[in-house]
Amino acid sequence: MQVFVDPSLRSKKRRPSSMTGNRTFLDNLREEVRTLPLYNSGLSAEYVRSHYQVEEVAKLGSNENPYGASPRVLAAIAAAVPGAALYPDSAGDPLREALSHRLGIPADRLALGNGSEDLIAISAHTFLSPGDDFVTITPSFGLHVIHAQALGARVHAVPVRANYSVDMEALIGAITPRTRMVILSNPSNPTGGSITAADMNRLMAALSEDILLVFDEAYFEYAAAEHSYPAFLPLLKRCPTPWLMLRTFSKAYGLAGLRVGYGIASDAALVSLMNRVRSPFNVNRLAQAAAIAALEEVEFVKDCVERTIAERGRVEAELAGMGYRVAPSRSNFLFVDAGEDASELALRLLHHGVIVKPWREPGFTGHVRVSTGSPRENDQFLKALAAVAQRRKVGQNRNAGVA
Ligand code: PMP
Repeated sequence: MQVFVDPSLRSKKRRPSSMTGNRTFLDNLREEVRTLPLYNSGLSAEYVRSHYQVEEVAKLGSNENPYGASPRVLAAIAAAVPGAALYPDSAGDPLREALSHRLGIPADRLALGNGSEDLIAISAHTFLSPGDDFVTITPSFGLHVIHAQALGARVHAVPVRANYSVDMEALIGAITPRTRMVILSNPSNPTGGSITAADMNRLMAALSEDILLVFDEAYFEYAAAEHSYPAFLPLLKRCPTPWLMLRTFSKAYGLAGLRVGYGIASDAALVSLMNRVRSPFNVNRLAQAAAIAALEEVEFVKDCVERTIAERGRVEAELAGMGYRVAPSRSNFLFVDAGEDASELALRLLHHGVIVKPWREPGFTGHVRVSTGSPRENDQFLKALAAVAQRRKVGQNRNAGVA
């Protein structure tokens, strides 16, 4: 894990506290907080347009839905605007009822969040204590580790195999008597891959009553469109130990800007505790109205997903044709071994108006994650990549990333 120390914490005027004997307010902060990595939240289209003097931006760094939300969802948001002066429903009951109906899960086992990232934070605050062991995989979604570390948990990140698949044996091997939480995104952000049903069964069998399994299925709708993707919710329903599945309206439902995600818990008692920890009005009025309307838009979402999967296949084939190694994806993005420093490549792409996400975890700094956008955005990416790539020759790349 890359360690980020905020430069403002290194005041030039202050003499080191070891010299003065006076520890300042900032010196006294918990080490876990002082060394937290800063989440790489990516650049906005507005920023890139103005800083790089480009007209067309291909925003392919944040895995959003390029087709947005349906007209009916936009109308539902507009209809909710006059209520803006009033606090939202703190429990989000109508949305939880709609989700309960859709999922066949009692509403008291459903938790809502200001995006599913809010639920990651809430579950860390609710279920982790300083000194607990926390097990995940690497590379992984940055916020999984950030919230656990902020809480003072000891993070154990198990590397994926060379073919990007999860090493379930190693993951299970990393669990100790002090482990309180195991978390993984599936399909994985950033690799896009999925574990098998057999591996899920092995993992569930290895967990004890005092470990919470958090299964982050932010990209569920893309994965579930393909029959080979295991149905993990029915599997989890048979899990005898505590679990929390996370999903979101930010991806296939096209509502990333409104921030609404949900959690499905093994037991209402988990949600009841999370309700005490979360901020009471964490999902705003417009987001709740939008999510309820979006759940009705089955055909629209299906169409977005199908178009994205088709485009993902096209981009993947083009990249393979250019000699790139690409991880197999069940999601709306591709994890590409760039065969060069990913941050430098990403910077060159910005000059062509293309935003991708250079990966920064050790061992993967030669990889970029590129979202599957609209056909126009994907063309812009492929054209820009062909123009600016500076891949090392085959054999020079440590990860053998250039096929
Ligand atoms: N989990 C994973 C695996 C993600 O990739 C993301 C967003 N990139 C999130 C959670 C958070 O999404 P949101 O807060 O928008 O629901």
